[in-house]
Amino acid sequence: MKKLSLPVILALSLISLSTTRALAAFTIKINPGATLATNNSALAAFNRAANQWASKITDNVTITVNADLGTFSNNNIIGSTSNRELFSDYNSLRNLLVNKHPTDKLLGALPTSAQFSAILPQGVTLSGNLSTSKANLKALGLTSLDTQFGESDGSITFNKAFSFDYDNSNGVSANTIDFETVAAHEIGHLLGFTSSVDDIDSGETSVIPSFMDLYRFSGNNAPTTLAGFSSVTRDLRAGSDAVTATVDKLFTINNVAVNQVRMSTGVSKGDGRQASHWKDDQFTGINIGIMDPSLSFGLRTNVNPNDLIAMRLLGYTLAAPPVTAPEPAAGVLVALGITCAFLIRQKKR
Ligand SMILES: [Zn+2]
Repeated sequence: MKKLSLPVILALSLISLSTTRALAAFTIKINPGATLATNNSALAAFNRAANQWASKITDNVTITVNADLGTFSNNNIIGSTSNRELFSDYNSLRNLLVNKHPTDKLLGALPTSAQFSAILPQGVTLSGNLSTSKANLKALGLTSLDTQFGESDGSITFNKAFSFDYDNSNGVSANTIDFETVAAHEIGHLLGFTSSVDDIDSGETSVIPSFMDLYRFSGNNAPTTLAGFSSVTRDLRAGSDAVTATVDKLFTINNVAVNQVRMSTGVSKGDGRQASHWKDDQFTGINIGIMDPSLSFGLRTNVNPNDLIAMRLLGYTLAAPPVTAPEPAAGVLVALGITCAFLIRQKKR
């Protein structure tokens, strides 16, 4: 993934936080390309997808998404997102995240640069920087990013080789792909759901961890205390069975603490799925959320509490704690995902 450096001057002015947010409204604005602009039902589906996130986030910023249908060389890919990914020195961005929610004990325990360590493949080193999406940094209070880098927060392309169902209100037709599900998934990447493990998996040797990587641990070595959260080494190896872990038990679903969920481990050296995703339910029978790496024909999934927890870990302000019961559709997807594996189409982030 191409990452742009935040100018030093911007790093120094990181804390230009808006303090008055009485009329907070999180807005995801689509800037449609030529093909999408003429497709009103697609635009409506995209806006419903955007609202799945926007209705749950209260940060008073506007995210602008370029989106269109396009041609892909790989017809297993339904859609892809090209983030505006920005980086700066580790502590500047880490402190931005910490300072967004000063009473959040988990964020407060995020390792400083001196504390941070990661298990890496041989020959790979940490760059000393940290990265996340431009959209994420807007939500953390950076106010001049559109001026610095242009209005767009990223681009989403939908593979026009697929037949899309643009209206899932009456279910998703067989042999079609639910456009709203794909749009909601791709928007999740744009909001910051990414991992540098994909960069490592594709040969990068000087790694810039993403915000999500701050929570990425070996499955058998996840921290269980806040002190451990500061000190336990992160695991950024492709192919390592990693989890995204939280240890403050702030977030509960059905009164069960969500401490860790598994992640995908990489296309080349891992499980065949980009590491910037939850673990594919095709392998486990457990659908973790909309950031699952694949989707079957005829199925719909929605942004769910695990996805919202991820956004909270990235520093977004949620309208309410993500305690909604898992949606029934998830169970359906799991069953069909297993029995209809040949229909699974991998999604590129
Ligand atoms: Zn994806």
